[in-house]
Amino acid sequence: MLKQIIFILVTLLSVGALSFSFFKIYKNFKLLKHAYPVKDHAKRFIRLFKVGFAQNKILRFPVIGFLHALVFWGFLAIAFGSLEIIVDGIFGTDRYFSIFEPIYSIVMATGDIFGLIILVGVLIFIFRRTFMNIKRFQGKEMTHKAHKDASFALFLILLLMITLLGMNSGYLALHQEHYVGIYPVSNFIAEILAGLSTETLHIIEQINWWLHILLIFFFANYLPYSKHFHVFMSLPSVYFSRLTPLTQMTNMESVTKEVKIMLDPNAAYANSSEDEEKEIERFGMKDIEDGTWKNYLDSLTCTQCGRCTSVCPANITGKQLSPRKLLIDFRARMNEKSKGLIKEGKNYNDNKSYLGDYITAEEIWACTTCNACAMECPVNIDHPSIIMDMRRYVFMEEAAAPSLLNSMSTNIENNGAPWQYPPTDRLKWADNLFINN
Ligand code: SF4
Ligand code: SF4
Repeated sequence: MLKQIIFILVTLLSVGALSFSFFKIYKNFKLLKHAYPVKDHAKRFIRLFKVGFAQNKILRFPVIGFLHALVFWGFLAIAFGSLEIIVDGIFGTDRYFSIFEPIYSIVMATGDIFGLIILVGVLIFIFRRTFMNIKRFQGKEMTHKAHKDASFALFLILLLMITLLGMNSGYLALHQEHYVGIYPVSNFIAEILAGLSTETLHIIEQINWWLHILLIFFFANYLPYSKHFHVFMSLPSVYFSRLTPLTQMTNMESVTKEVKIMLDPNAAYANSSEDEEKEIERFGMKDIEDGTWKNYLDSLTCTQCGRCTSVCPANITGKQLSPRKLLIDFRARMNEKSKGLIKEGKNYNDNKSYLGDYITAEEIWACTTCNACAMECPVNIDHPSIIMDMRRYVFMEEAAAPSLLNSMSTNIENNGAPWQYPPTDRLKWADNLFINN
């Protein structure tokens, strides 16, 4: 009974802390703009299956991608066992989900095998990060803190797998023939433990049981503050990813209205009272509050794997631009400014901005809008839209675009064409040619 009471208290504490973290993130989402209507759910489910569950994009790197996919699938299988631990802990039962035999044995066997696979996979990941100089993991945005975060999360996963196998092995050795489920890997370890006394085996099982669930609670609460938040966010992010062609810009409501008025002045009086209430929106993105919920979702989902940056032609040719940095900086800027925005409202100003203090004009104009980054990203993050929105701001609000673009826009405005000649001169090139109308 005491064990149950302690377990319930620990669970409540953990769930409470996690809910608090999610509530803070939810409040940040509320600061942002609408991105696009989320419809075509059938298409989205197909994409979720292909990119999210089947991990088809990550498998483009056959060896390391497959290893990562195994870790992902393993987590799905092990999640069932974790849920059972919570049910057992609250109700004082022992392996309660065994009522679902024979599915129970299949899932437990899968989880047990994946426990070992993940353990080996994580050891390889740690070795790669620590001893191999992988170019993808380098870059100015990959600070010492970012590397420490990645290594710490991998270390936690390693401990999770050790305690999982330790718990199952202790359980098997303790119950000899009378256990439920199938555990192909833990069976081997249980044979080694077989000579120990019943008390010792009980202690081994209970210590691993407690450590395993406490690590799960700790890991879950650590994730919202780590790059490993993609454990929670990657599936929603893939589901909500855009279905329209990449780099296709959305029309701004205010600009659309201006054009309609130019075409039909009567439109200026239609819905005027409704429009008066609306504040004039900023053109494009200068700071995070100009971004959309999708931009923020992307920034929370980014795994910092660097696949985007490794294929970016601007980055490869030595430019400052790194698509991964756009996401890391967006999240950092949100963490920095959101408290002030929530407290003081949208007029809060800390004299800093995402564009300028985090991302420079040089970076955004280095982009070729080739979309290679978005195509390569295993969680369907849309980097070019962030760049395009910042360009829109620079172009429309500051008129500070590169001179060639500025003169092109002036020409379009004055001459209706990107060239500097008036429309009346357009056919001058044909003056000396003998062309009859
Ligand atoms: S779209 Fe821009 S940021 Fe993305 S890969 Fe191409 S050049 Fe790089
Ligand atoms: S944006 Fe995508 S590809 Fe780039 S680092 Fe993040 S998860 Fe990896």
